[in-house]
Amino acid sequence: MHISLDIYSPVQQIQNDLFTFKGIQLYIKRDDLIHPVISGNKWRKLKYVLQQAQAKNKNHLVTFGGAYSNHLLATAAAAAKFGFKATGIIRGEKVENDTLFLCKLHGMELIFTDREIYRDKPALFNKLFADDEQAFFIDEGGASPEGAKGCSELVNELTDTYHHIFCACGTGTTAAGIINGITKNNLPTQFNAIPVFKNGGFIKDEIDRFLTATANYALHLDYHFGGYAKTTPQLISFVKQFTVETGILIEPIYTGKMLYAIYDLAAKDHFAPGTKILAIHSGGIWGLLGMKDKFI
Ligand SMILES: *Cc1c(COP(=O)(O)O)cnc(C)c1O
Repeated sequence: MHISLDIYSPVQQIQNDLFTFKGIQLYIKRDDLIHPVISGNKWRKLKYVLQQAQAKNKNHLVTFGGAYSNHLLATAAAAAKFGFKATGIIRGEKVENDTLFLCKLHGMELIFTDREIYRDKPALFNKLFADDEQAFFIDEGGASPEGAKGCSELVNELTDTYHHIFCACGTGTTAAGIINGITKNNLPTQFNAIPVFKNGGFIKDEIDRFLTATANYALHLDYHFGGYAKTTPQLISFVKQFTVETGILIEPIYTGKMLYAIYDLAAKDHFAPGTKILAIHSGGIWGLLGMKDKFI
């Protein structure tokens, strides 16, 4: 089977009094609409990885993640769609949750692993799948040069030029891909990374290892809201308000933090009048299922 999806990811303008008042324009690229489950950057990251697996005649995808990993779920759904077997190796003791339920529903086999052993993923893979010639290693979060290559294609789809592009960062693979796309297309666009971790400065090394040429980009380290998957009442109310005002569903782990950053920077006059900004909706809305209790 040929591994590709027709990409439907329109760019839409977000209207808001703040942006009108400041004379700036915010647009959002709807990568969340690419697929209901293999959503956003997760599809872009998997595309060439899956093609590589297929080229090597491997029919069993093995990947890694935490118990709420969007990447695990996307891999499970992509495996089902394109005819692979899939195993997810989960960090920590056995749990059940909505994400893992959906992984299993798509046929993914789950293996829970001690956190210490989980650290060395290649070693763990070699040990568990020594006898499985079909097994194909996919790193946690889909972090790989192929993943960055898939993400760089987002830039080719743009028909307009923006002063800024904003994207949330976990492994930094998506950011690296978009930066590579900006470089390749010679765009005057400034890339802005929003790491979702506390002390996210390390993301620079993670991004830089997948860059095809050195590049300047902005890192905004103050929008982590306490750390990975941490929230504050302020962030939760922003996510609710954004969803109510736009009809576009976002979540507090990635896209909520990234959009909050744009609104906050706009309010603080970070952008000159006339600035055009593109936010990447990187998908991941199933992550809301692990956050329901925060919204009460
Ligand atoms: C995984 C994920 C990210 C992070 O992507 P990286 O390439 O790992 O930086 C961003 N947004 C959403 C919605 C995600 O699910």
